[in-house]
Amino acid sequence: TIGMIIVDANGRIACGTTTNGLNHKIPGRVGDSPIVGAGCYVEKGVGGAAATGDGDIMMRFLPSYRVVQSMKSGMSPTDAVKEALDHIASYYPSFNGALIGVNVNGDYGGGGHGFSPFPATVYNPTLDNSTVIDY
Ligand code: ASP
Repeated sequence: TIGMIIVDANGRIACGTTTNGLNHKIPGRVGDSPIVGAGCYVEKGVGGAAATGDGDIMMRFLPSYRVVQSMKSGMSPTDAVKEALDHIASYYPSFNGALIGVNVNGDYGGGGHGFSPFPATVYNPTLDNSTVIDY
């Protein structure tokens, strides 16, 4: 998956995902990427999140929705991602997955479970620079 979260200068938020079709498009499979709250999720005034990994497992937990709701209750993006991954791992200890989260202030975080390093890029058009982070 390539997951994207965009926060513009006016605080508008959007997200999108691609998918590898869990290794190249199993016929008839939907997976997590197009499911709102699973592949990605945004909420006005809060932020957004996006997921990659074992979609058939992760979609049962709506992890992107969970990250955004945790940020809404005051958690940092990094802590919200960890909490959502730990929640899935409590049911499926060997799942592979990763999440990113961004809040409307531009704070961001990410993390992976059985998925390391998990590369993410942060781009700020006002500074015209990008940073690659290995979570
Ligand atoms: N999450 C995707 C899926 O299960 C796989 C991927 O990471 O591309 O469809």
